[in-house]
Amino acid sequence: GKPRVVVVGGGAGGATAARYIAKDSKGEIDVTLIEPSRQYYTCFFSNLYLGGFREMQSLGHSYGALASQGVNVVHDWAVGIDRDAKTVALAGGGSVSYDRLILSPGIDFIEGAVPGWSVASQNKMPHAYKAGSQTELLRAQIEAMPEGGTYVMVAPPNPYRCPPGPYERISMVAHTLKATNPTAKIIIVDPKDKFSKQALFEEGWGKHYSGMIERIGPDFGGDKVSVNADEMTVDVDGEVIKADVCNVIPAMKAGRICEMASITDGNWAPVSGHTMQSRIDENIHVLGDACAQGDMPKSGFSANSQAKVAAMAVRGALTGSKVFPAKFSNTCWSLIDSDDGIKVGATYEATDEKIAKVDGFISATGEDAALRKATYEESVGWYAGITADMFG
Ligand code: FAD
Repeated sequence: GKPRVVVVGGGAGGATAARYIAKDSKGEIDVTLIEPSRQYYTCFFSNLYLGGFREMQSLGHSYGALASQGVNVVHDWAVGIDRDAKTVALAGGGSVSYDRLILSPGIDFIEGAVPGWSVASQNKMPHAYKAGSQTELLRAQIEAMPEGGTYVMVAPPNPYRCPPGPYERISMVAHTLKATNPTAKIIIVDPKDKFSKQALFEEGWGKHYSGMIERIGPDFGGDKVSVNADEMTVDVDGEVIKADVCNVIPAMKAGRICEMASITDGNWAPVSGHTMQSRIDENIHVLGDACAQGDMPKSGFSANSQAKVAAMAVRGALTGSKVFPAKFSNTCWSLIDSDDGIKVGATYEATDEKIAKVDGFISATGEDAALRKATYEESVGWYAGITADMFG
């Protein structure tokens, strides 16, 4: 029969890979996508929902277009991988077999990373780092904050998905509170010395949200944090802060199916940048947040870019189609306030050792309003284009 590709995870990386393999192999390869959700909500632009710039509806994408483009979409969880038999077991029973397996399961949280927090407390202290109901919950909590209340974010250590994500979120929360609750306070408890686009964010916070945002870095105990979800308190190196909203973003690791397949080394699944093949099993490719690849940040843009390289490599291996040298790109846009957009990005190539950065760019402090507006508009165009590239 035809060669078979199974893709686990219908997010940024997995949906792109499934779509490109089905489209470009013109029916020569059988493609099955395993994804539990009928509707995928993008984390990208979910901060803009918190700021009131997007509706949740506009972030949702379904799988009908992929199905009509030849992808066999199975709404189920992959619960085990037998690498010798080359089969994937499904929660609903049964299994599917593959010649090549692509894993793009995103992230899971490291248990115990923030003492006092567990997935069981995510309704009291949401992470909103997987989009959808968690994001809606966080917005409802922000709207219900008492006048002059306190929003605390516990920021994650490196590496994590979307390096500027927590700080764009702070900007969007500040934007909402400035309009609805201007005496509210925002505290970031951060284990990191520095963060992505820091000078740009700090300049923007001073300009738009002066006096509202305080960041507690590692010098002041930002790396010694525990929480109590029942008391709604955050303990920072012995000092207790009472929170009205507490957004805990714990340390991350590869989606658990990677551990179950025994293809992780530490928290992530190492891959070769040439093909995105696992360094532990050449029949498996790992994309996006879950892989350890080198210099690319964990982003939707990166996952999409890696998926195209993997799709080309898989088609080459299974049908003999031509394979070109791997090239990648990424840009992470962030919105600080209305029409105040910034970006950071780079191009990359594969070396034997890793995905290596070739060239980069970043917005400058002090840019004029017209350029910032153009940068924001570019991000709106990017969102429309990349989600069409992923979900058809
Ligand atoms: P995901 O997109 O998370 O997809 C994983 C999928 O796998 C999920 O649909 C899940 O249901 C499924 N899955 C997991 N386990 C299984 C299993 N066992 N069986 C079957 N299915 C499974 N990126 C950008 O490029 N630009 C941005 O502006 C941006 N902003 C962000 C803002 C926030 C607040 C956050 C949290 C992230 C942001 N990102 C952004 C990052 C981006 O969302 C991720 O990097 C990207 O989604 C990673 O793609 P992925 O395919 O690795 O994982």
